[in-house]
Amino acid sequence: MKKKTIRCPYCGSPAILRDASYVYGDRSYGGKVYVCSHYPDCDSYVGVITGTALPKGSLANKALRRKRVQAHQAFDQIWKQGILNRQDAYRWLAEKFCLDRGQAHIGEFSDYMCEQLIREASKVLEYNHVSMPMAG
Ligand SMILES: [Zn+2]
Repeated sequence: MKKKTIRCPYCGSPAILRDASYVYGDRSYGGKVYVCSHYPDCDSYVGVITGTALPKGSLANKALRRKRVQAHQAFDQIWKQGILNRQDAYRWLAEKFCLDRGQAHIGEFSDYMCEQLIREASKVLEYNHVSMPMAG
């Protein structure tokens, strides 16, 4: 089987499989990441599905990673405000995006999915009369 080269969507360079600590440092959860070969000049990377060499999505630059943080903040309000408990909130998330519970990691969401999640989470918060925290 021919191995497909994974490329950085921003600069077109091939991505290199590295330990997650290469980009996350102390915040590393272990595992591997595909990092743009021009990192850190090109600040672009993505996590790898545990036990495989498969990327979880496309490489993400700083803007997308920031959007993922915003999506996470919106989502977290659902369980932090007690609308659902944390476990049920993640179940809601998985169902919204037709993902297995184990795949429902906002850190791997695309730009589009982040937008959708922010929208969906906002609806839930609005319905429950919880105001969104101001985005930083
Ligand atoms: Zn790049």
